[in-house]
Amino acid sequence: MQNLQRSQAVFDAAQALIPGGVNSPVRAYRAVGGVPPHIASADGARVTDLDGNEYIDMVLAYGPMILGHCHPEVRGALQDAIDHGTAFGAPTEGELDLARRITERVRGCEVVRLVNSGTEATMSALRLARAATGRERFIKFAGCYHGHGDSFLVQAGSGALTLGTPDSPGVPQCLASLTSVAPYNDLEETRRLFEERGSEIAAVFVEPVAGNMGCIPPQPGFLEGLRELCDTYGALLIFDEVMTGFRVARGGYLDLTDVPADLVTLGKVIGGGLPIGAYGGRADLMQEVAPAGPVYQAGTLSGNPVAVAAGVSTLDILDRPGTYEHLEGVGARLQAGLERALHDAGLQGTVQRQGSMLCLYLAEGPVTNLEAVHASDHERWTRFFQTMLARGVLLPPSPYEAWFLSTAHDADCVEEIIAAAGEALKASR
Ligand SMILES: *Cc1c(COP(=O)(O)O)cnc(C)c1O
Repeated sequence: MQNLQRSQAVFDAAQALIPGGVNSPVRAYRAVGGVPPHIASADGARVTDLDGNEYIDMVLAYGPMILGHCHPEVRGALQDAIDHGTAFGAPTEGELDLARRITERVRGCEVVRLVNSGTEATMSALRLARAATGRERFIKFAGCYHGHGDSFLVQAGSGALTLGTPDSPGVPQCLASLTSVAPYNDLEETRRLFEERGSEIAAVFVEPVAGNMGCIPPQPGFLEGLRELCDTYGALLIFDEVMTGFRVARGGYLDLTDVPADLVTLGKVIGGGLPIGAYGGRADLMQEVAPAGPVYQAGTLSGNPVAVAAGVSTLDILDRPGTYEHLEGVGARLQAGLERALHDAGLQGTVQRQGSMLCLYLAEGPVTNLEAVHASDHERWTRFFQTMLARGVLLPPSPYEAWFLSTAHDADCVEEIIAAAGEALKASR
């Protein structure tokens, strides 16, 4: 085991001042045990903790750092922005630059509003969908995460008639009861929900590739079926591309499917590592947002010039030839290596991937919904995780999280990960 003395000391002291010592729950390592390495610095594909241990980073801030850490050009853009002032509460040209880049890339995103996080983007898109349809109920899928807005913190209840019950104390039952939940990839259950309450349903929210229960691509026909149901019943289809946007392809998953979305939510990659989010879509819908229309939504720091500069710079760099080919290449190489490692260790497992996001499940594949993720071998996964950490590969500390690669992860780096995984899988038996 590596020395984590200084991380331990900070973590211990933080317990009294910050809930659980962290500012976002998964960082606390409750699912895997032990002390989380506290990061002191990062560069490219690697991070270094307070005790000087170096890791290949596959967390990448849970998705945003698609160019790796401290990309020199993004740093340059940030420096330049900071030199001009960090917040004005007035419109800037940079916001138009970013809006142009988003609307030019994301199919069907004609008008876009910048916010400060993915959570804000989904909350705002839900409000807009409710306003535009005059309906209050919406459908989400079990295991899809849409940020921590009250309405979204609702898990599956089984059976078509089951109303949502809150996942967290503090979420009003009356609000949660407006959230209907179906299993991911389950068109039949979704259809049943529509048949029962179709005239009440404002929208269907979906991660077009589910990235908050590992990596679960949509089964053929799933998104098409959702589109059809939404059209039949007059509901909006909302793609939550906070994770997949600009990661799985230049224009997000919308580049990889013919299915159009009415609204799309974005975050993570568009901030290049700074806090940002966005929601956009059909112009007639988006022009309902204040002050163009009556649907209120605002933010003191929305469109922050520093975050916008990082976003513009990141999207421009992503546009260079070969970027997505590189991400696909290292992704495919890693997937093949992990599959070999699983086979060599004689373990049942499957690797699921969409471009540079992937997940290794210790379960027989294909894993298509949350139930299947629950059924995977979490104890063995935890042992695997701990060996990877000790071997210098930082994975997201939960079997429900996707792993990420960046343009800074090269073939050598991927070979290192595969070698570590080979050992860690054997050690987990
Ligand atoms: C991360 C994520 C969110 C929430 O974004 P935050 O910036 O953490 O608020 C919403 N939806 C999806 C699909 C995400 O992956």
